[in-house]
Amino acid sequence: RVNRSDFMHALDEVHPAFGVSEEELQAVIQNGIIRYDSTVDELLRSGSLLVEQVRTSKKAPVVNVLLHGPPGSGKTALAAAIAQASQFPFIKLITPDNMVGMGELQKISAITKVFSDSYKSPLSVVVVDNIERLIEWSPMGARYSNAVLQALMVLTNKLPPKDRRLLVIATTSNRPILTDLGFSEFNAVMRVPPITSLPALEYVIQEAELFPGDEDRRDAIRMLKDAGFDKKSRDDPTSRLQIGIKKLLSIIEMSRQEPDGVAERLVTALMELDL
Ligand code: ATP
Ligand code: MG
Repeated sequence: RVNRSDFMHALDEVHPAFGVSEEELQAVIQNGIIRYDSTVDELLRSGSLLVEQVRTSKKAPVVNVLLHGPPGSGKTALAAAIAQASQFPFIKLITPDNMVGMGELQKISAITKVFSDSYKSPLSVVVVDNIERLIEWSPMGARYSNAVLQALMVLTNKLPPKDRRLLVIATTSNRPILTDLGFSEFNAVMRVPPITSLPALEYVIQEAELFPGDEDRRDAIRMLKDAGFDKKSRDDPTSRLQIGIKKLLSIIEMSRQEPDGVAERLVTALMELDL
């Protein structure tokens, strides 16, 4: 017969000692991290430097970093990848996806709990994902939860207890709003850019194994060149190609649904993005 203590015991076994939910991290890095550009390596490296800073610095027991960039540019996955690579014993994600239907107070208490749990571990990473959604920012009437905002601002900067060190990785697709709301005190700010070059796009297509051979892939890239996708340089804001890795991967999946016309579907979908 299974009693309550067996059940609680089983739950303990599901959750590792301090609290790293590998499944949770894995779920947001579902499609892996594709190194399509040197910026990806640079972001991961900057992340690991911050991790080392937290691990070794006596002076800064809490370090917080903001990852910002357009929707779908890969912020959540990168934050999770940096967190995972730290191998810290406590890693937790605060994400609006886990807070659907919660009221303001419930949210604040869930957020507060993650931070107070983190203080039980000598080294921790807390990912505060998608701040504008956590505070329920709405451009209609510029409304948001000030209480959740205040809680986040306090907790991400609060000194942990003695001998406890914490890295906070926050993400947002709307940095200007955060700045307007006064949420701008981060030790580091890193931009996660969209993909804007054909070589990077080709690299992703290759990694995703969309085409069986090199020839088909090159044909597809040629079609995009002919359509003018390589017109502007990488950091030119008017670059024709502007696509988040998340969207690109979903277009790739859509394109491979049928064996025929893969390149055409890919190119058409990319052209339709173009404004
Ligand atoms: P949103 O703005 O909707 O919150 P996001 O910027 O957080 O989106 P992610 O949810 O992180 O984007 O989606 C990125 C997806 O792309 C993930 O499935 C991830 O596994 C995959 N991916 C592949 N390569 C990379 C990379 N170099 N960087 C980030 N994500 C990558
Ligand atoms: Mg995200």
